[in-house]
Amino acid sequence: MDPFMTNPPTLKGYVTVDGDSVVVWCKYCRRLHSHGHGGLREPLGAGDGHRYAHCHDRNSGYDETGYYIIEVGWFTSEEQRREYEREQAQRPDDDDN
Ligand SMILES: [Zn+2]
Repeated sequence: MDPFMTNPPTLKGYVTVDGDSVVVWCKYCRRLHSHGHGGLREPLGAGDGHRYAHCHDRNSGYDETGYYIIEVGWFTSEEQRREYEREQAQRPDDDDN
């Protein structure tokens, strides 16, 4: 399916401490999806854009449309990334943010 014929959601992305990846919370498989950011030299926003989900959940609502990522922050430690994942896992999945 052409993602631009549909209306993909926009997800907040956080860049990992090594700069290699941007992660977004997936409310379907309830874990973080990881996509490329490009390294520590790349500014916030370098990983923005449309991505396909590669979701682990076969019923994922993201599989057909993918989603847009907007990078909104950096993790300053691996612990901060894990804490973010724990927080998201405790939230109800009522929105895409
Ligand atoms: Zn997923």
